[in-house]
Amino acid sequence: MKILVINCGSATVKFRLFQTQGQDELISLAGGIVSGLGKEDAQMSYHIPDFRFEQQLNRPGYREAIEAAIQCLTNPKYGVVRDVSEIDAAGHRTVHGGDKFTHSVLVDRDVITKMEQCSHLAPLHNPANLAGINQAMALLPKTPQVAVFDTAFHQTIPLHASLYAMPFEMYETHGIRKYGFHGTSCQYIVHRASQLLHQPVEKIRMVICHLGNGVSVTAVKNGHSVENSLGFTSLEGAIMGTRCGALDPGVILYLMTELNFSAEQVYTMLYTKSGLLGISGVSNDMRTITDLAEEGNPRCRLAIEMFAYRLKKYIGSYIAVMGGIDLLVFTGGIGENSPIVRSLAVKDLGFLGIEIDPELNDKALAVESLIHRKPCPVTVAVIPTNEEWMIAKETLEVLAARDRKNAIEKGGEIVKEMNS
Ligand code: ADP
Repeated sequence: MKILVINCGSATVKFRLFQTQGQDELISLAGGIVSGLGKEDAQMSYHIPDFRFEQQLNRPGYREAIEAAIQCLTNPKYGVVRDVSEIDAAGHRTVHGGDKFTHSVLVDRDVITKMEQCSHLAPLHNPANLAGINQAMALLPKTPQVAVFDTAFHQTIPLHASLYAMPFEMYETHGIRKYGFHGTSCQYIVHRASQLLHQPVEKIRMVICHLGNGVSVTAVKNGHSVENSLGFTSLEGAIMGTRCGALDPGVILYLMTELNFSAEQVYTMLYTKSGLLGISGVSNDMRTITDLAEEGNPRCRLAIEMFAYRLKKYIGSYIAVMGGIDLLVFTGGIGENSPIVRSLAVKDLGFLGIEIDPELNDKALAVESLIHRKPCPVTVAVIPTNEEWMIAKETLEVLAARDRKNAIEKGGEIVKEMNS
């Protein structure tokens, strides 16, 4: 079977085509990214093993980006399928499923309506995810589409951890509670961690630091998410590229009542002008900030220190939540590539059994690696995330469940006919 994974963000469309192999294997046939959506000099980059194709696109929207992806995948010279009928299903990354979705689902009109109702919970992401699904349905009308929700993995977070201490009806009537994000990435990490440590997931208490443009820390016990640092929206928790993370809610009241900020101004500031960008004043990109910090820029130094300090607080508190830790994982663009952030985030955690080997840490750049000092009770690992692989896997499972359901219904009809 061939599964096309589509990940529509606010400025990019990423895609990857997987093929099943044997019982449990999924191999990547081709992939690519359209970046700079809506811009005159948008770029399409497509690759298969040993071949790369680049193309400039003029102001592409989601439709044009997905169309360009399909053209590459079906190109007679460098494509990997003859035509779209060879694509058995499309799996879509979807950021927020609210409390409406506890697992991945086959998309239909009802699912789209429910997803639209969740859009206010992830205004930077859900509208883009939905646009991608709608365009893929239009371009691949015969192909089943599956939505895979980043929030689904965190539905196991217990009520005492997910509720805010507000009047209870805010939760009952309006669904205001922590939902958690980066669930698809965490699911992949849990799967890989079990293979890496040769242990069943039930035996591994782990803290996963997903450090990309969005940042989250997750506690996983018995294979289930029990805590995640993101909240009702993707603003809570750790410091992010342009988002503030945890903030005294009183600050928002002060901004609005004393400084006359409108709701829109608060929104723009906390989502797009805060985080690493807000502190450093120069960039939301950890590479730039690290370079400038090395050159002595004090605000960039402070941004890195604050970023790592906040992470350390979450790591420590999640160890307390789980009553211990066996594995600490760094993933996401920063987690996979930044030795300085990793070392600062675990500085002085030796008393908890967490110690990084500086040499191993420096060498671990975007490759799966164990970076703890040996012997050491806690394994510290860099595991590059692979959300696309996980989405393809989930898509396959949704299709298999649909086929099982169809077979049972068909069996029921035959029995009914025989009895009549
Ligand atoms: P997204 O959340 O958009 O998927 P990524 O996981 O790609 O983001 O991570 C983007 C972040 O990773 C950016 O802050 C970028 O600066 C950082 N990053 C990528 N490569 C490096 C590197 N070599 N050193 C430090 N940070 C890096």
